Amino acid sequence: MSERVVILGGGISGLAAGYQLLRRDPEAEFFIFERSPHVGGLCRSVAGDGFTFDHTGHLLHLRTKQGRRFFLELLGDELTEHERNAWIYSKGAFTRYPFQCHTYGLPADVVTECLVGFLRARGEPAGEDESFYDWINRQFGSGIARHFMIPYNQKLWKTHPRDMTTEWLDRFIPRPSLEEVIRGAVSNDPTTLGYNATFFYPRSGGIAILPRTLARALSGRIELGKQASAVRCGSREVEFADGSRVGYDRLISTIPLPELVEMIEDVPEDLLAAARELRWVSVLNINFGIARHHLSDRHWIYVPEDRFSFYRVGFPGSFSSSMAPEGTSSIYTEISYLPDDPPDEGAAVHKAREDLVAMGILRPDDQILTTVVLRLPYAYVVFDRRRRPAVEAIRRFTSGHSIDLLGRFGAWTYASMEDCSNDAERLVERLFSPAG
Ligand SMILES: Cc1cc2nc3c(=O)[nH]c(=O)nc-3n(C[C@H](O)[C@H](O)[C@H](O)COP(=O)(O)OP(=O)(O)OC[C@H]3O[C@@H](n4cnc5c(N)ncnc54)[C@H](O)[C@@H]3O)c2cc1C
Repeated sequence: MSERVVILGGGISGLAAGYQLLRRDPEAEFFIFERSPHVGGLCRSVAGDGFTFDHTGHLLHLRTKQGRRFFLELLGDELTEHERNAWIYSKGAFTRYPFQCHTYGLPADVVTECLVGFLRARGEPAGEDESFYDWINRQFGSGIARHFMIPYNQKLWKTHPRDMTTEWLDRFIPRPSLEEVIRGAVSNDPTTLGYNATFFYPRSGGIAILPRTLARALSGRIELGKQASAVRCGSREVEFADGSRVGYDRLISTIPLPELVEMIEDVPEDLLAAARELRWVSVLNINFGIARHHLSDRHWIYVPEDRFSFYRVGFPGSFSSSMAPEGTSSIYTEISYLPDDPPDEGAAVHKAREDLVAMGILRPDDQILTTVVLRLPYAYVVFDRRRRPAVEAIRRFTSGHSIDLLGRFGAWTYASMEDCSNDAERLVERLFSPAG
């Protein structure tokens, strides 16, 4: 390939695209431009006071041969495999994840409602244009819907499932068999149901070792502190906030799609309107370092009830003992919010601590050694009815102008780290194919 490729964004998607370009052709002409002073994007860790915190829990769920090969070759011995130990906290009880086949421990009337509802549910695959709400009720029945699926999803997406589509579900919400549902109501045995029954995590250093390893292989090809501010499709040129410019034959964009569209010069009005239809949620990630050894051997807990501020809480020490100094532990909590309604940090930290005490995770007298608050301005793309037509319209324009959209926010989708790297590999294969 003799084209000059410019990649916007140095998160996993941009780095994986560069890595694949280099693998295909060590002489390939490409550069990665990253706005911040670090590579990694969402896949980053911060260290302080002996603790390491990721930008909230980032675990490698490797479901595909392609992804397994890529990450295991790249990180090999640095990774450890774990069997999921995930839970849900609701009605004052801890039950195993996934909820739909683990109601054991909940009040008897809740278990009965969930079982009767499941027996009555028809469980056919999603119909075209069906709402997420209707799908939940049809797949799992009204009890499981009412006691977990609806409140949890509404809390996470800040959108009622009635206003969401089912396009993103794919692997994320599996339907158990009747036997699994009944077994999970009468016993506390774990199941392997679900997309993330096992996962990999670095032995030490947090998830940041992943982008760091990629960046090492890409040395000399990455420029940090370079914020793209304008894209000129006619002259195939990107301008940066510092006034510098770079020309390209092909542009790979992994930066948030609404921002890319806004920076395209002379972009058609209908495209701008499409970009302004896109919705997403942000996450406030509050991390605590605690002066107590071994807080929990659970990996993470889903928290559907509104009386608690966070939708999920996790324990980094259960993935890697290197995440906290000897004799201490750490916790991450995730609070989702609409980008135009950010929570007050001080109040959110206070409430998160109160909620951890109310759930019995922290004791009132536990000493907090450190508090690290991280904001994820783009966290989850909302799959409402406006998303697909808007993304399709934008994609028609960009693909006609030698721009490829890649990544969770570049392609505006629900992508894991593995999806991002697989998509990067596929994109580079296409660029090298004769029709590319
Ligand atoms: C709460 C949460 C939990 C998650 N947990 C997991 C998990 O357990 N396992 C998993 O596999 N995945 C998880 N993910 C998903 C994972 O984080 C993403 O799939 C992946 O990190 C996305 O990488 P990316 O490169 O596409 O995007 P990003 O990481 O967002 O990277 C985009 C990069 O572009 C840069 N940029 C933006 N604007 C500009 C500009 N104008 N000019 C130049 N650069 C710019 C940004 O600084 C950033 O570095 C989670 C995501 C969230 C939000």
